[in-house]
Amino acid sequence: IGALRWHFLLQSLEDLQKNLCQLGSCLLVIQGDYESVLRDRVQEWNITQVTLDAEMEPFYKEMEANIRCLGEELGFEVLSLVGHSLYDTKRILDLNGGAPPLTYKRFLHILSLLGDPEVPVRNLTAEDFQRCRAPEPGLAGCYRVPLPTELKIPPESLSPWRGGETAGLQRLQQHLTDQGWVASFTKPRTIPNSLLPSTTGLSPYFSVGCLSVRTFFYRLSNIYAQAKHHSLPPVSLQGQLLWREFFYTVATATPNFTKMAGNPICLQIGWYEDDERLHKWKTAQTGFPWIDAIMTQLRQEGWIHHLARHAVACFLTRGDLWISWEEGMKVFEELLLDADYSINAGNWMWLSASAFFHQYTRIFCPVRFGKRTDPEGQYIRKYLPVLKNFPSKYIYEPWTAPEEEQKRAGCIIGQDYPFPMVNHKEASDHNLQLMKQVREEQYR
Ligand code: FAD
Repeated sequence: IGALRWHFLLQSLEDLQKNLCQLGSCLLVIQGDYESVLRDRVQEWNITQVTLDAEMEPFYKEMEANIRCLGEELGFEVLSLVGHSLYDTKRILDLNGGAPPLTYKRFLHILSLLGDPEVPVRNLTAEDFQRCRAPEPGLAGCYRVPLPTELKIPPESLSPWRGGETAGLQRLQQHLTDQGWVASFTKPRTIPNSLLPSTTGLSPYFSVGCLSVRTFFYRLSNIYAQAKHHSLPPVSLQGQLLWREFFYTVATATPNFTKMAGNPICLQIGWYEDDERLHKWKTAQTGFPWIDAIMTQLRQEGWIHHLARHAVACFLTRGDLWISWEEGMKVFEELLLDADYSINAGNWMWLSASAFFHQYTRIFCPVRFGKRTDPEGQYIRKYLPVLKNFPSKYIYEPWTAPEEEQKRAGCIIGQDYPFPMVNHKEASDHNLQLMKQVREEQYR
């Protein structure tokens, strides 16, 4: 994982340590491979129970199976609880009659049969800890949260996002205070290029487990219950959480979910392999300011709006460059604070029209898309300061500015900022034909 996510995780652990301390307990962070760590500690500390979050990723499923074997061997109990998702995805799949295909509509129908998710686990109190054996003095010092330099990552993070339950709860509270906003939330109407997030920005907190999705779900239910009208899935805020759940459910039952090869739900496409073009996309040198500003925000801050993710994902894959969604997914995995095995792969398949989404003729224009919600280009000026002096008329396509205008803006295209790496019209027309062909062949 990338440095920003490391920082976010370390800040989250520091915050947890602080909060546990206030309850008279402490957090011990033990580094190493889990099997040898468990073998050593279970015997040394006479551990009788190991508790873990039930996860859908193959790595964690394998870890859980291995820990269960160790439990039998060393004599400890293993408790695996569903906490990261709203529902136990196995129950949803059972009601679906097994593995996908599963549409979002059918998924919502199955959830209606299951009823609301289990209520969140109550918060721990000082009394809970009084019943536990206090850790031996000095242990907390030996097993403290590591410093960034000990993990060989830069000492400071420049990202404005701060990890931890405290920051996550503050953000949650701030959004839920505006009940009208919550009740009328409609995802497609939120703005991808606002200077502060126009959606909740809670994903990094859910992702590392600072904040419970069930807490969020029930706080939303309470607001909906008091509102005269409220929006509904798929566009409502609760609907967003259900998308998360949807991708978890499909990922649990799909082999090779993060790959094209061997993935039964994914269209098999002969994507181009082009390292140079991929590098330009990744390092914000496509020559399209809207795309480059988004990739800069992603690299500097670790979070970008959902529709901004749409724009860069479509550009890389079926829109302009015809490069595999797997490559884009890997870049997001490295740079996103909220990087998630199932959600990331699911959305990349969606955006590249490889699975779930079939209106593949709708290709986003890297010039017009951003202009609609930010005609003055404030977002581009913030993230690409080299372009900040261009008049609004040219900010989305500076290569069309006359030479005099470029000189006045202090930025010569081709010298200080690249020319567009493709002709969007030609590239997207060509790719659309390729996509039609692939679909015709495979569906036949
Ligand atoms: P809000 O709109 O406030 O929604 C609330 C919560 O609902 C989010 O925090 C998130 O947990 C969930 N959610 C919202 N949209 C989606 C969605 N489309 N799919 C699944 N869950 C959703 N999200 C991740 O958490 N991790 C990823 O690795 C990730 N990769 C993505 C890759 C691509 C190509 C795309 C198009 C989207 C990806 N998303 C990912 C989904 C979505 O963009 C983010 O969850 C959302 O933008 C986070 O911002 P928010 O918390 O303000 O969302």
